[in-house]
Amino acid sequence: MASMMQPQIILLKEGTDTSQGRAQVVSNINACTAVADTVRTTLGPRGMDKLIHDDKGGVTISNDGATIMRLLDIVHPAAKILVDIARSQDSEVGDGTTTVVLLAAEFLKEAKPYVEDGVHPHSLIRSYRTAGNMAMQRVKELAVSIEGKSLEEKKSLLAKCAATTLSSKLIGGEKEFFASMVVDAVLAIGNDDRLNLIGIKKVPGGTMRDSFLVNGVAFKKTFSYAGFEQQPKKFLNPKILLLNIELELKSEKENAEIRLSDPLQYQSIVDAEWNIIYDKLDKCVKSGAKIVLSRLAIGDLATQYFADRDIFCAGRVTEEDLQRVAAATGGMVQTSVNNVIDEVLGSCEVFEEKQVGNERFNIFSGCPSGQTATIVLRGGADQFIEEAERSLHDAIMIVRRALKNSTVVPGGGAIDMEISKYLRQHARTIAGKSQFFVNSFAKALEVIPRQLCDNAGFDATDVLNKLRQKHASGEGANYGVDINTGGIADSFANFVWEPAVVKINAINAATEASCLILSVDETVKNPKSESAQGEAAAGAMAGRGGGAMRGRGGRGMRRR
Ligand code: ADP
Ligand code: MG
Repeated sequence: MASMMQPQIILLKEGTDTSQGRAQVVSNINACTAVADTVRTTLGPRGMDKLIHDDKGGVTISNDGATIMRLLDIVHPAAKILVDIARSQDSEVGDGTTTVVLLAAEFLKEAKPYVEDGVHPHSLIRSYRTAGNMAMQRVKELAVSIEGKSLEEKKSLLAKCAATTLSSKLIGGEKEFFASMVVDAVLAIGNDDRLNLIGIKKVPGGTMRDSFLVNGVAFKKTFSYAGFEQQPKKFLNPKILLLNIELELKSEKENAEIRLSDPLQYQSIVDAEWNIIYDKLDKCVKSGAKIVLSRLAIGDLATQYFADRDIFCAGRVTEEDLQRVAAATGGMVQTSVNNVIDEVLGSCEVFEEKQVGNERFNIFSGCPSGQTATIVLRGGADQFIEEAERSLHDAIMIVRRALKNSTVVPGGGAIDMEISKYLRQHARTIAGKSQFFVNSFAKALEVIPRQLCDNAGFDATDVLNKLRQKHASGEGANYGVDINTGGIADSFANFVWEPAVVKINAINAATEASCLILSVDETVKNPKSESAQGEAAAGAMAGRGGGAMRGRGGRGMRRR
């Protein structure tokens, strides 16, 4: 109402809550620290997992920062920014989601004493931005390229990156097994950007080791009618027909309205129906295809018809699977069976229907265009397989990143220590208070190795001292936490590698987020979004609004 009378002045409603100033910055920092504390213990190969169960009774066990943050249902407005950066890290590079949250929170934690002492956040922000840029630059300088290696070499290097990612996960015990599987899958799809060309199918039961990779497509046997049993279950070099039509008898009469005046004509309608379906089936057979897949139903009549002619068929194949079959076998999905020419038929070396655990699977392998791969995951509990899938997703993303950018940095906190050292050295050359801020930024980077130690039960102070000493000596740039002995080791030599882009993105996002949170000194809570009492009394607005306006004016002046 008030806004209608005086559109140029924004007055705040009764119940609007504003808090501002230094206390607000500090309280935001505290909220972010609290959020980071929940994911803190998941970092690294010895990190713990979190079991989250939601109000619908769903249970998720995860080690993935982004997944945990998403499920936590955070309501604090500033802390939500951390959820966003975890999510963007996940979609941008796929790994380093815990890292990014920890870094951002640590940058803020280091800034807190300064804010409390009355340092203006913008001095801090300026120094942080510079330090962040220098850090990213340094990572780029230190990154080692894996370009120009032979395929075999490249494969083993990529497998090492994948293994590093997997080592912190539930399936870490079998990391070599899964790492090579992931590398094969990623190399199979080549440069194609469609991630869904790698299918992951989950079949409960068996052990992790029973998981396997299909160089092609695999999907669960679809619902089938009688007659299916008589169809052959294995073909060599079959032609494959992909359809998007129903092959069912009943479907015909629903396509048109029929009026009869003479009951004797009814038989001719029935005959016509049979003729139409037989005509369709006949055309399928004539196309020369040995396998017929359809996104829609294939009825009992068709199933029996195909069985009699030694043809395999599957109806109600999901859109995704059908597209993958099309991509892999070089076929094209048809919406009509008229004029099926040879070019639209797909082919593969072997088609087989196989038993996997309790399920039957249709497996197409040795596909000509080779641009698909399917990982069939086995394991005990559902939650376990689901976490395995998420972990594999991380590894797949990492291998793809490494393949695209092909530079890696040593993990285990080595790169973080090296950048920290570099920034500290730089800080010494700065005159003025900015020196302290850059130093704090450098110190915050140490959170990664420190947390890796804490999570593994090592003496973090001791290990960090050793690391600082080693890095300061000038020849220990690759030294990081040795997760097996509790000492320090050359991460590069131990093949604890991470794609450089993970670190660059993490530092960038964490710096941005912390600067963003530092720059917020006022939160205004709109009562309407809190409760349904939107119709607040207009009379009380003036005082409230005045207060808020004063706050705004003050901030404007301070900022210049
Ligand atoms: P994020 O979600 O950030 O990827 P992770 O739980 O995957 O968190 O942990 C990643 C961290 O663990 C990285 O800093 C990586 O260098 C480190 N790391 C992974 N494997 C090892 C290892 N074998 N030894 C030491 N550090 C490792
Ligand atoms: Mg990881």
